[in-house]
Amino acid sequence: MFFALKGENFNGNTFAEKALKEGAKYCVVDEKEYAINKNYLLVSDVLKTLQQLATYHRKQLNIPIIALTGSNGKTTTKELINAVLSTQFKTVATQGNLNNHIGVPLTLLKLTKDTQIGIIEMGANHHKEIELLSNIALPDYGLITNFGKAHIEGFGSIEGVIKAKSELYDHLKEHNKLIFVNENDLTQVKQTEEYNNLNKFGTASTSDSVIELVSTQPFVTIRYKEKIIKSNLAGTYNFNNIAVAIAIGNYFKIDLNNIVSAIESYVPTNNRSQLIEKGSNTIIMDAYNANPTSMLAALENFKQLEKNYKILFLGDMFELGSTAEEEHQNIVNYLEKNNIGNTFLVGKNFYKTKVNITSILKFETFDDLKAELQLNQIKNKFILIKGSRGMALERILELL
Ligand code: ATP
Ligand code: MG
Repeated sequence: MFFALKGENFNGNTFAEKALKEGAKYCVVDEKEYAINKNYLLVSDVLKTLQQLATYHRKQLNIPIIALTGSNGKTTTKELINAVLSTQFKTVATQGNLNNHIGVPLTLLKLTKDTQIGIIEMGANHHKEIELLSNIALPDYGLITNFGKAHIEGFGSIEGVIKAKSELYDHLKEHNKLIFVNENDLTQVKQTEEYNNLNKFGTASTSDSVIELVSTQPFVTIRYKEKIIKSNLAGTYNFNNIAVAIAIGNYFKIDLNNIVSAIESYVPTNNRSQLIEKGSNTIIMDAYNANPTSMLAALENFKQLEKNYKILFLGDMFELGSTAEEEHQNIVNYLEKNNIGNTFLVGKNFYKTKVNITSILKFETFDDLKAELQLNQIKNKFILIKGSRGMALERILELL
């Protein structure tokens, strides 16, 4: 079945005929002139129809649905939860990053009669999007990975982020569904304090799942019950992502050994805090994306890694609206105060910052940085690479 969705550049209705020729049995269209025979189903709004169909399907199957949102770490956390639950259940989880008003319905439509648990990633860069996605997916369980300074352009401020992400909490509360709460995250605790249907995890002994951080050198190692779990994930921030996956595993009565092996065998993909050896250099490749919160988390983590000869490549953070100048300067100020290692800043925003120390170099464009690296080869270094998706800093790898 072909859904003739519309976007800024294309009108799906115009492809309906071709879709039928190429094997689709039906086309859902919303412009009368295209609905020329009984293989075309004319509706008033194709997108809404797709969303309603997904909800209808989800209701018919009536299986537990876990929804997650947050500023950072959604995909990583979703993969970890799926790794844990799929050891004992037939699961369907969001593929890749299909987390929006189209991706969520498509994921729901992937659930089959055999599926036992659905795990749905929800992304948003505007208010009311999570509310809409919650109304489509009707989750029974939910969690927010964190509240951070991401998509400030659309949310206005950090308070705006908290409000928008909490639309998931609002939905769960309204339907008396269970929320997994990270007791170490004060905002999460505050946003759920007057609600009872909670499952808590964290380092406090009062938590339903007591999970402790043992080490981050170079990967996150965790203590849970009598087990030491060694992950392949770098960065203290990944402790939270792993912790909630353990908490959910615990809730769904996954065998402890299965939890351990699921977490230990999960390897991140797509430049999300991946550890890469290239020539004589070791690289933490975090070029998947960046915003002020995840940038500081990455710097803080990189700072405390016990390695010599550290080098940083940091690219611009996008979608910061009027706070862009201040946020990039904040990062520079942090770097000057902490002096982690020689730093290469790249991008128009970083180029505009005021830099007072010689160990920080600025480059307006990637080509300028490239010219520098071709002139001065980097060897035997421990390197962090982080920037927004649009900066595509993974290109640096070819220059090392
Ligand atoms: P998107 O908005 O693109 O869907 P996401 O929320 O799914 O992103 P991931 O793809 O899991 O996030 O991770 C992206 C990057 O965010 C990671 O490479 C890491 O740098 C950072 N990150 C992951 N988890 C956290 C966290 N809990 N706190 C802060 N930063 C994090
Ligand atoms: Mg994602």
